[in-house]
Amino acid sequence: MRYELSNPNLLIAGIVLTLVAVAGVELLPARTLELTVPGVASGPYLNTSDGNQATAVQWVNVKDIHLRCHYTSAAGNYLGCGLTYVLTGADVSRGRDLSRFDSVELDLAYKGPSAFVRVALRNFDPRFSKAEDHNSSRFHSINLRPRDIQQPVTLDLNELTVPEWWVTQYNLAREFNRPSLENATAVSIDLPVVHAGEEHEIQLRRITLKGHWVSRDQVYFGVLCAWMLGAVLMVLNGWTQLRRSHLRQQREIDALTARTRQLRVEQEKLRRLATIDELTGVLNRRGLEQALEDFEDSARGMTLVMLDIDHFKHINDRHGHDCGDEVLRRVAAVVAANLRSTDVFGRWGGEEFLIAGQGTRIREATRLAEKLCDRIEQSEITVGGHRISVTASFGVALAPPAGSTADALKRADAALYRAKESGRNRVEMDKTLESTPTTI
Ligand code: GH3
Ligand code: MG
Ligand code: MG
Repeated sequence: MRYELSNPNLLIAGIVLTLVAVAGVELLPARTLELTVPGVASGPYLNTSDGNQATAVQWVNVKDIHLRCHYTSAAGNYLGCGLTYVLTGADVSRGRDLSRFDSVELDLAYKGPSAFVRVALRNFDPRFSKAEDHNSSRFHSINLRPRDIQQPVTLDLNELTVPEWWVTQYNLAREFNRPSLENATAVSIDLPVVHAGEEHEIQLRRITLKGHWVSRDQVYFGVLCAWMLGAVLMVLNGWTQLRRSHLRQQREIDALTARTRQLRVEQEKLRRLATIDELTGVLNRRGLEQALEDFEDSARGMTLVMLDIDHFKHINDRHGHDCGDEVLRRVAAVVAANLRSTDVFGRWGGEEFLIAGQGTRIREATRLAEKLCDRIEQSEITVGGHRISVTASFGVALAPPAGSTADALKRADAALYRAKESGRNRVEMDKTLESTPTTI
């Protein structure tokens, strides 16, 4: 069937596509966002909280993104020292979706006494963030030890957490304190704690966000959906094909059944034609012989009545052959109308008929022959306006169980001959029966 052939091809195509999709998601070049390239984000801006100390945080060289911090006195609780890239445009509430990024590559040099350098990202969430309070954008950060960043380092974005000071300051419902970077507004590198009198230098060589163009989960989910859809389509296709072939076979079976029925009818017609006498419509000789064979098989024996129309040649000669045919038809009809349902009747040949009855009641057979003899004589046969008087002679014989039918036929014929000899229009019994009265 067609769908069976196409299955391996579909399967191979599916496997190839799956491999391409899985390899593609791994081999596709990573999505990158290099903040230190001019034009990618706005900045870098210096982070400062120097109040009147205008020179506390300064660029050593802005082109190399190299800054120095030196507070001579503490201006407040928090002394800023670092730089920020801003990811928004004029609308500070619309940042960038960084949810498809999963790591940050950082190449940074720090010189100074700070125990940590901090990498931080802010995310504006309209449910609680306010444009006028940039701290209200959720803070995500990680503190790195200077020795950890002596070499370029790659951070997983999952390492960034929402710090306690931010959670405490905004006192929001728990779900708002979960890290998420769907609307990131700023990225900054700074020092978490700075004391007056200290000198710090930070030089940022490169900060790059890395991610996938398409998420692995989406690709795997897509592949799974495609396989499931393919399986469903394959099952549906197979079912449809099966149904079609079933219907086709059913139609073929129906056609064959109809043809067989038709052949049986035709066979029956032929069988009837082969055993029926065309002229009279009763059994012909072949039909009679078959019926006699059936009687022979039964253990009951049979009676035979042989009937021959008297002077039939004369009827033919006088009234014509067609008239003779009509007489044959009428005689057959008269006999058929007076038989028992179990009797077999047919034309033995010419103007000779035979009646076979089941059982060995010779008296009954003789009575039947006498009745028929009377009925034929009394029948008013008129052909072409001429009334034709017809008589017939009868010979009756008995075929005992397991006896020879041919023999019985000969004896019936002999009895008939005697009826003719004795003047016609009469019934004669087989002579051998007269000496064995017990059988009658
Ligand atoms: P009998 O009383 O001794 O029987 O004399 P019969 O004339 O009846 O017998 P015979 O055997 O001399 O003649 C029978 C005739 O029946 C001869 C034959 O032409 C005629 N015959 C046989 N078959 C048919 C038939 O199918 N149609 C017609 N019209 N005549 C037939
Ligand atoms: Mg004859
Ligand atoms: Mg005759």
